[in-house]
Amino acid sequence: MFSTIDLFEPARLGSAGRAFAGRLTTVGAGHWLGDCAAGLLFSSGATLCCVSDFAPKAESARPTMATPPVEKTNARTMSDGASQRILVRIGGVQERLERHGPCAYVARAMRAREAPLERLEREIPACSDCPRLADFLASLRTRHPDYWNRPVPGFGDRNAWLAIIGLAPGLHGANRSGRPFFRDASGEWLYGELARRRLWDGERLAGVYIVNAVKCVPPGNRPTTDEQIRCQRWLGRELAALESARVVLALGRIAHGAVLRCWGVRPLAAHPFAHGRVARLPGRPVLVASYHPSRQNTNTGVLTSAMWRAVFARVARLERLRTTSRA
Ligand code: SF4
Repeated sequence: MFSTIDLFEPARLGSAGRAFAGRLTTVGAGHWLGDCAAGLLFSSGATLCCVSDFAPKAESARPTMATPPVEKTNARTMSDGASQRILVRIGGVQERLERHGPCAYVARAMRAREAPLERLEREIPACSDCPRLADFLASLRTRHPDYWNRPVPGFGDRNAWLAIIGLAPGLHGANRSGRPFFRDASGEWLYGELARRRLWDGERLAGVYIVNAVKCVPPGNRPTTDEQIRCQRWLGRELAALESARVVLALGRIAHGAVLRCWGVRPLAAHPFAHGRVARLPGRPVLVASYHPSRQNTNTGVLTSAMWRAVFARVARLERLRTTSRA
């Protein structure tokens, strides 16, 4: 989401404009919309509202959805009264926008400013390329209407040094919460270890970005080979967008193979999966393999907490080594 600073130019606002901006969670007045009018925008969750009648320069750039002119005022010279009136009318505008969708002009302008990972986080949930998985998600919407029930995008620090790749959303974890590994037993292992290492504070990941190789929850936790291959286009773009990642931790054989395929490594057999194995590939982050912290592995002792901690200790050592060698 944009911040006030991103969209307003606080130094150029009058005092009432600044006060107005401060009262919204996120506010925008675009110099990129034309400094000519009070282009006041605000976003609330997924709904972006265009609150004013700004004046785009080109006819083609006009919003497709008519928004009520709130105040024909300039944010720089906004009076207290104007800001009050705008705040009062925002509720009504938001209601209209929820019915009709966001202003296309503004949505386009925001898309143009999106960072690659931000764009992926928006695009992935709309994918329905795998018919079997799309049908499964549709059935889940009836069974669990309060769940996310869409493809799950990545989550975390977009400037992460560590990228963690899982297999696919768990039915009652990521598929419920909309965040990889969140709210199930595997997630307790993963987020628990990240918290122990101060990379997770209960709300935010610091230096870590988590994705799944397959974005949709598969029946029986088993994506088909076709589905894995189809979903690689998303993973490939995520890996490419994680420009600052220095270490990639692949959880499980499927995730490990997916990363290698996205990087164009052939043959895969040259880098077989084994817990704790490290692969150094030219021009790529270091790839570390680990067993997936699934219940099946943790309950049977295939993956013990000592093994799990050792993998993260190794990841931390590799990061330190890479950072030192670059210094
Ligand atoms: S698994 Fe991937 S490619 Fe298939 S529908 Fe889900 S997001 Fe799209």
